Amino acid sequence: MHTPASLRVALCYPSSYSVGMSSLGFQTIYREIHLHPGAGAERAFLPEEPGEYRKNRTPVFTYESETPIYDFPIVAFSIAYELELPGLLEILDLSGIPLLREDRTDKNPLVLVGGPLTNSNPAPLAPFADIIFLGEGEELIHEFLDAAAGMNRNEMLAHFSARRGCYVPGMTPDYPAIAKVEDTRLPAHSQILTQHTVLASMFLIEPERGCSRGCTYCVMRCTTNGGMRLVSPEKVLSLIPDNARRVGLVGASVTDHPKIREIVAKIVASGREIGISSLRADRLNEELVNLLAQGGYRTLTTASDGASERMRRVVDRKTTEAHLIRAAELARNARLQRLKLYEMVGLPGETVDDIDELIRFSLELAKITPLSLGISPFVAKRNTPLDGAPFEPIPSLDRKLSRIRSGLKEKVEVKPSSARWAWVEYMLAQGGEDAGIAAMHAWRAGGSFSSWKRAFMTHEVKTFMRRPVPDGR
Ligand code: SF4
Repeated sequence: MHTPASLRVALCYPSSYSVGMSSLGFQTIYREIHLHPGAGAERAFLPEEPGEYRKNRTPVFTYESETPIYDFPIVAFSIAYELELPGLLEILDLSGIPLLREDRTDKNPLVLVGGPLTNSNPAPLAPFADIIFLGEGEELIHEFLDAAAGMNRNEMLAHFSARRGCYVPGMTPDYPAIAKVEDTRLPAHSQILTQHTVLASMFLIEPERGCSRGCTYCVMRCTTNGGMRLVSPEKVLSLIPDNARRVGLVGASVTDHPKIREIVAKIVASGREIGISSLRADRLNEELVNLLAQGGYRTLTTASDGASERMRRVVDRKTTEAHLIRAAELARNARLQRLKLYEMVGLPGETVDDIDELIRFSLELAKITPLSLGISPFVAKRNTPLDGAPFEPIPSLDRKLSRIRSGLKEKVEVKPSSARWAWVEYMLAQGGEDAGIAAMHAWRAGGSFSSWKRAFMTHEVKTFMRRPVPDGR
């Protein structure tokens, strides 16, 4: 563990470079490691072409020095959501690092795992991680690097097993509360601008963290780490580098920032393009949408989440039909190409009437401006009021999705995500360590849907599912 001059960390993203470098959390930890005296991070990813390393028997190596990650004393992962778990297994396996923590010795790197997934359910990560950081990692990483410079593996595990925000599988008795950093550490922002990312050449910055609202399905709701924490416009603007031609404002609830108009106006006035990760329909107005159009927007994207007004009320989502009609009008008036709406189907208590309302209302919106619907099945997450709510059976979801598609045929673009893969996500979101072991078997068996289904059944994976509650709370 001890390295005299420099402590090297292989910082891995369990997907390709283009996806990983679009993650603000990943970039933030990369910067924090470099800020730590005597420490340095090198980044590693899976290949853009899936299976390429396996075909060529290439161990995963770092982007900076092309060193195989098994040569590093510490291998750290940032993991955003459940279906990235197989990517973590693939990276460890390609590198000859034992997948299971109990099979590792002093000769293997210490495997540290953190990232947004740890806000909800880290349990399926536990068979594979030596240490898990829960929640916000910007301060914990410095304590970790200090410890790693002076302690051996066992001392590290013992130290972090009793630390708030850390979970050492096999040692920490229960999952502790997630970590929260001092507000002075905000905002997170990009370290590196690169053309080869999903958000090409975009400088990412977080003008606020968390959310003050209370949607009952959402991990980032007001009860998480004290709700919304704001960064001043001056601070946000001062951190944007001169060479950034595009700026992405990232956060759970960016348009709820009380100074959002001022921040956007200054960025657009400087001739830069703008992107915002979360536009709330009830916060849109003519001035903001016109600024977005000036800043290069072609599609106005927001979420309504519940299929009907009734379902939105059930989950405390404050978006109304009036807000969405206004959003469509604003998009049309600003000459944007379309409105894109994210929807969820399969919330507890949802009926065919709710789906029919979604169809009727989408047709209404499409008369105002071209409309796309991105539809995902509802997946209950831990640490939310809807934790433990059941997953609607796949055939029933498929019937609802076909009803929506045929009801909106040729009038609205419909992009549903797969009900089958949402079920896999659900099993991992609601499962314990046995769900992680099942994931390893499914990945070894090729990762098809049937291999996941078989693995969950064979390993008798239990979820935290509770009986449906009629009003969804
Ligand atoms: S869904 Fe959005 S608005 Fe609702 S609590 Fe989560 S981040 Fe906030």
